[in-house]
Amino acid sequence: MSEIHKFLFDGLPVRGVLVRLTDAWQTILQRRANNESLGAYPQPVAELLGELTAAAVLMQSNIKFNGSLELQISGNAGSGPVKLAVAEVQSNLSLRATASIVGAVPDGSRLSALINQNQQGRCAVTLDPKDKLPGQQAYQGVVPLFDDDGKPLEHISSVLEHYMLQSEQLDTTLVLAANDVVAAGILLQRLPVQGDGNLAGSMVRKTNEDAEREIGNNEDYNRLSLFAKSLKPEELLGLSANEILHRLFWEESIIRYPANTPHAPQFACTCSRERVGRMLFNLGQEEIASILSERPNIEVGCEFCGNQERFDPIDAAQLFLPPVGDLSGGVH
Ligand SMILES: [Zn+2]
Repeated sequence: MSEIHKFLFDGLPVRGVLVRLTDAWQTILQRRANNESLGAYPQPVAELLGELTAAAVLMQSNIKFNGSLELQISGNAGSGPVKLAVAEVQSNLSLRATASIVGAVPDGSRLSALINQNQQGRCAVTLDPKDKLPGQQAYQGVVPLFDDDGKPLEHISSVLEHYMLQSEQLDTTLVLAANDVVAAGILLQRLPVQGDGNLAGSMVRKTNEDAEREIGNNEDYNRLSLFAKSLKPEELLGLSANEILHRLFWEESIIRYPANTPHAPQFACTCSRERVGRMLFNLGQEEIASILSERPNIEVGCEFCGNQERFDPIDAAQLFLPPVGDLSGGVH
């Protein structure tokens, strides 16, 4: 079973999350492999998408936010064989992910070869609130796939650490790894509190200036970050959560929350027939008639889960009937 573990370091302004996606990740890979027209992900793409998915779960579980968190890496025509990689995680840690591939993927390709050959690749983090107020937009932040010196980054973890530093002004450490069975990661974050405030409950917010001065300068955080970074991918993928935390932090006093509270990560797709219907409705009656003049049905497949929704001419005609009650459905 997929699992998530949150923990604190007793008396230190650092918290952490560890995630291991097993069944949820295998489901994503299996559904893709079952799609005859697309086929299984090449190894480098599976690793990229697995790390992105683990990171999305870690980030979602690290914020207090009711809605979806989406990580999206995208390129343009000259960026490489991967056009898009997306991982989306809801507040209850239900997740889905997909990648679209437009060219051959050589074995061993790293991030820059996959989607940043021309330095135009980018990573977008979108927070979409579940209950939006009228006119409220999703929040989106974008970071490039290169560092401050213009050097291409080869790890999603570096890209997202950069994002977290920019958006939250907090040191964040991410260690990620994925293979065809497990997608896993650790997140450590320095807390914006004084001393042992994280446990005493006396959260003292610092000024912006103080916050900036502290970036990179907290010795406890730096030590723990180094420990986390020392973890090898095969250890992160092969060891249990207990073994990993013991191996990294055996000299520290860790306070752990019960695993999977309040939710365990699980695969779930948010697609629905109603949504496809709305999408077809938005195309307009003329467009739909034109498509149906060339084929017997309209089939729309979900890239995330592989579900196919089929609309025959009668189904399609019903989309454009005057509403009886609320035809738009209540699916969000
Ligand atoms: Zn779906």
